[in-house]
Amino acid sequence: MSVHRIAHDGASLEGANSTYVLPDRGVVIDPGPPGETAWRTLRDGLGDGCGLDAVDHVLVTHWHIDHAGLAPRLAEAADASLHLHESDAALVGEYDRERKQRLVRDKQRLERWGVPSDIVAAVIDNDRPSPLPASFPTESHTDGEEIAGLRLLHTPGHTLGHAAFHTERALFVGDAVLPTYTPNVGGSDTRVENALATYERTLERLREYDITPYPGHGADVDLSSRIDEIRDHNATRAETIKTVVDDAGPVTPWEIATDLFGEMNGIHAKMGTGEVVAHLSHLESVGDIERVGTTPLRVSLLP
Ligand SMILES: [Zn+2]
Ligand SMILES: [Zn+2]
Repeated sequence: MSVHRIAHDGASLEGANSTYVLPDRGVVIDPGPPGETAWRTLRDGLGDGCGLDAVDHVLVTHWHIDHAGLAPRLAEAADASLHLHESDAALVGEYDRERKQRLVRDKQRLERWGVPSDIVAAVIDNDRPSPLPASFPTESHTDGEEIAGLRLLHTPGHTLGHAAFHTERALFVGDAVLPTYTPNVGGSDTRVENALATYERTLERLREYDITPYPGHGADVDLSSRIDEIRDHNATRAETIKTVVDDAGPVTPWEIATDLFGEMNGIHAKMGTGEVVAHLSHLESVGDIERVGTTPLRVSLLP
């Protein structure tokens, strides 16, 4: 089975988005961000080994626009089917409706996390709609299902319905593990409860697969050493957060996040504070901290 990578340079802070083409199976994974530049990159890349006519199945690892942006357009142009895990499918297939709900949810979460109201308003205002159809047919799947000979693995954490896909020899991991960037959990999908613990279970599951990994950004990744690095990074961050709570508590997630990352605006306010919340849920579940307030959320260190 051949795997052909198309790189979308400059599309994301996480590094060039990777589209993978499996010409023998008529499969394209994560077509890339929306827009004419990315569409030309995709069309040129497909021309190398798999024309539009040969594309039968478009698989998307998660709803983020830099992965899913071109999926409806490609599926329509190629007369192909579009596949996601059931928990992310609606965010692409019912884009307008789900985007409205997401903005309501994000606003509620940010307020609960103690983010100041002017910054909350800016986050929501700056969240611009992407050029996706209001509604588009998608096929939704659960863990273990096969699509064109690829098995879907539900790998939640970065998003609720994040999925990896694998054959006998290749594992397409999306944003679950990236070569240089530590994937955000907590802010990148505000639906995920206990995002850090959920994500760490995903990492341990992926570690079991001793086959070639293909990341959603960049060309390759050493899965097991990156998983170790991400876990170390998270353990260090948890200790830092405990120190901040100990020094300044009771504190809100926003206060902890500004202590860690400095002043934040826009998407960074959501990602940074969400990451802190992911850690706080975990620290609460292991008995290191306790909630002392709910609106906004406030935590103290337990002795
Ligand atoms: Zn992502
Ligand atoms: Zn990404």
